Amino acid sequence: MITRILDVSSEPLDEECIKEASEILKKGGLVAFPTETVYGLGGDATDKEASRKIYAAKGRPSDNPLIVHISEFSQLEAISSGLPETAKKLADAFWPGPLTMVVNKNEVVPYETTGGLDTVAVRMPNNPVALALINESGCMIAAPSANTSGRPSPTKASHVYEDLSGKIEAILDGGPVDIGLESTIVDLTEDVVTILRPGYINMDMLKEVVGEVRMDPGIVYNDKGTTSGAKPKAPGMRYKHYAPKGDLTIISGDEDAVISTINKMAAEAIEKGSKVGIISTSETAGKYTAGEVLIIGNRSDEGSIAHNLYDILRQFDELDVDIIFSESFATPKMGQAIMNRLLKAAGQKTIEV
Ligand code: AMP
Ligand code: MG
Repeated sequence: MITRILDVSSEPLDEECIKEASEILKKGGLVAFPTETVYGLGGDATDKEASRKIYAAKGRPSDNPLIVHISEFSQLEAISSGLPETAKKLADAFWPGPLTMVVNKNEVVPYETTGGLDTVAVRMPNNPVALALINESGCMIAAPSANTSGRPSPTKASHVYEDLSGKIEAILDGGPVDIGLESTIVDLTEDVVTILRPGYINMDMLKEVVGEVRMDPGIVYNDKGTTSGAKPKAPGMRYKHYAPKGDLTIISGDEDAVISTINKMAAEAIEKGSKVGIISTSETAGKYTAGEVLIIGNRSDEGSIAHNLYDILRQFDELDVDIIFSESFATPKMGQAIMNRLLKAAGQKTIEV
């Protein structure tokens, strides 16, 4: 199959492209599209064959459920049962936006879409292309991230093309995404709202709306693994996530000590014949003395770090580095989300200096 690239990166939105993509979805085909978090790989959420095709194209384990993307709150009511009041409160506060809610499903959504679960994950994306596609097609769109399973989530159409060219009908190219990390996932099926995956919408923001919020004990890590020994409730958080080809270690602590430690370790590795990559910030890049130094963003703008994380991991794969050292980014608002992804990519390897 030849994957068509439909350019929707300029305004006003090209309606013909949206119509073409909608026709593909209505016929049971697959279209990748931008959201404000990462690119999604979409199919009709109520069509079990479309869901099967999504798993096949990504090489995704079939027990890892998909997120259903909607454009109106009534669609959440239409596919859920026993919707709690907190859903409306959270939707009023954060939708459209990077918050996914897990609720009990009804028969409208097939088990192929929910990985066999009786719950369904739902989100209203805050992106004009995504919303236009949902509205024009009339479909609720099941969409996981549009990468090959095991690779970093795509934040540009070119990342999607690298992974899925020849496997899906089309890619709507809306330019680089805004946030760059996947949505926050909250579970609303228990007494207390529980964060299953950290994201841009953080614990404090959620608490302001619903009061008590807890973190799934299965995703709280220290350097020896999960602190509770519990399994993460979101199936996707149980899989080994993206590990770059290079062996990644995070160095955390006082800035000067981090820089001198990375410089020392990089020099030693290069001496032994390894190719070394360093994840730096615009504030620190000039202080590194060896290796391929890439700038992830500005420390003064934590959004820039989230935005570039996946792209930088893909760049180091292309550079074929053997060893990667990264600074730590425990920033105030998005730190939990950024470090959750970075620690996974590092296999939890950190050195405190
Ligand atoms: P992705 O869109 O690729 O980030 O994948 C969707 C994420 O949502 C994965 O981590 C899934 O495990 C998670 N997810 C989807 N549906 C559910 C559900 N019903 N219960 C818990 N987690 C879910
Ligand atoms: Mg994913």
